[in-house]
Parts: sequence; C-alpha cells; structure tokens
Amino acid sequence: MGTEISIYLWHEDPDRARQAVDAIFAEVERLDRLMSTYKEDSRISEINREAASRPVVAGDELFNLIERSLDIAVLTHGAFDITYDSVGQHYDFREGRRPDAETIADEIGKIDYRFVSLGDDGTVAFREAGVRINLGGIAKGYAVERGVEIARRYGVRHARVTAGGDTRLLGDRRGTPWMVGIQNPRNEDAVAVTIPLESEAISTSGDYERFFEEDGERFHHIIVPSTGAPAGEVHSATVIGPDAVITDALSTSVFVLGVEQGLTLISTLPDYEGIVIDANGQMFYSTGLQPPE
Ligand code: ADP
Ligand code: MG
Repeated sequence: MGTEISIYLWHEDPDRARQAVDAIFAEVERLDRLMSTYKEDSRISEINREAASRPVVAGDELFNLIERSLDIAVLTHGAFDITYDSVGQHYDFREGRRPDAETIADEIGKIDYRFVSLGDDGTVAFREAGVRINLGGIAKGYAVERGVEIARRYGVRHARVTAGGDTRLLGDRRGTPWMVGIQNPRNEDAVAVTIPLESEAISTSGDYERFFEEDGERFHHIIVPSTGAPAGEVHSATVIGPDAVITDALSTSVFVLGVEQGLTLISTLPDYEGIVIDANGQMFYSTGLQPPE
C-alpha cells in the first residue's frame, strides 16, 4: 500500500502474539494484492481494464468495498469518488509529475461514481470507456479494520493497528486510553493535538503525505473530483468514529469539502467527529468535540 504499517498488541503468550502480528501483516499484503492499481494482475486492475466492455466478477470483498465507496459518494455528494483515478492516474508524486490542462480536460468527464454499476451477480461494470476506480481513499481503513478483527481472533483484547493515516483501536491501552496524536501538517516532528481514545477508529488525511512542489505550489494526492486538481482549502482533516472504513473515506471527503461543509457533514453523523486544520494552521472541531461552555 506504499505506506507504513504499525501494530501494537498484548498477549500473555509471546508466541501467540508473534503469530497474531504475522497474520495481520499477511492480511495487509493480501489486501494490497487485491486492491493495488499498481499491480497489473490485481483484481482491481482487471476491473479497470475490462469493466467498460463487460461486467467483471469482483469477489465479495472487493464488491462490498466498492459498494460502500459508492454509498459514501452519495453521502458526500461526490466529494469522495473512487473514479477520481481517470485524472488521478496522471499524477506521480514521487516523480513530481502532474496532468496538464489538456489531459485534465480529456479525463475529467470520466469522473463520476454513477458510471460504476454493480450487478446482482457480484459484478462491476462501467457505463463509459476510460472510467477507472482506485480505492486508495478507503482501503487502508479496511486493512486496519481487518487487522483488529484478526487480533481479536487470536484472543487479543488491547491493540492498535495503523496504516499510514488510519488507526483502529481494540479496547484501551490496558487501563488507560490510547493517546493518538494528530500530526502538525507543517512539522513532521510535532503533534497538533493528542486525543485519548478507546475501541475507536481515527483517520487523518493530510496534504503532507504524498506531494511535490512546483514554483511554490503544492500538488498533493487528495483530488477534487469536479476539477481534477488537489484540494486547496485545508492542510489536514481527521475523522473519529466506530468504523475505520468510514473514518478513512470521510477524512478524505472532509479534506475535499473544507472546514465548513466538511464539519457540517460530520454533524449529521451521530457516531462521527472531526477535526480540521485549515491553511492558516487554525483548528476546527465538530460539535461533539467542543469543550462544554
Ligand atoms: P492517506 O492515503 O494519506 O491515508 P487518504 O485516506 O485521504 O490519505 O487517501 C488519499 C487517497 O485517496 C489518495 O492517495 C487517492 O488514492 C485517493 N483519493 C484522492 N482523492 C480522492 C477522492 N476525491 N475520492 C476518493 N478517493 C480519493
Ligand atoms: Mg481517507
């Protein structure tokens, strides 16, 4: 997944602990093989190659994740849109490459989650040629959810599984809450705020994760589906809630939507809270996180 994975867990039996960690890493690798658009032989690459010509069997797991992605697209009015990749594929943040205006104009019409059609038979089809999907905004949340699920199966009751900006907690840190820091978006070594959490998920999307600069302008990996350009309003968006699949997709969504629309969306979801750091470094909290007056 091109990201760092970290696992903390407790088990009375060190051998079982080691087995649990190995099983979680193996699971992350399995999901990467299934969902990476960079691997030619992954199922998602097959879908991207073929689904405009014929319905492609996705397999339950991928099918469900695509379905959930489309639900979030509806909820966010398209701020979260896995078809962003028709333009997104032309960015290479390592090489400092980005699509020119002509390429964006050619590809932008293929961004629309409504082009993705799910069949009752578990297939995925695209209504247009050139549509591509990429689960980069939701797959890590799914991976850490699966990680905690596996830990639980090994009898673990206290764990913290992180993939990049996505963390899922199991229980507390043996008697105290887990302390999860949100990075200062402009200082790698500094934490903007630390939040005590138990049994929850927390995801942060930031413009510092993958980016390059050109003439003082930052080009990063969170794309506004309506323009094909990186979202400009905020530096990071964090979402906290019970399910890492949702917090992952919502952190990307809130990043695209910006402070006002993003936190308005969060206020409609009773189990979810958000923290946004804007381009001036100012922090904004959703209503459930406001200290009482
Ligand atoms: P991170 O990868 O740093 O955890 P996110 O969870 O915000 O960050 O995911 C960003 C990834 O989501 C991008 O690398 C890309 O794969 C994908 N993405 C970018 N823009 C969108 C969008 N508007 N909707 C859905 N996915 C997106
Ligand atoms: Mg995300």
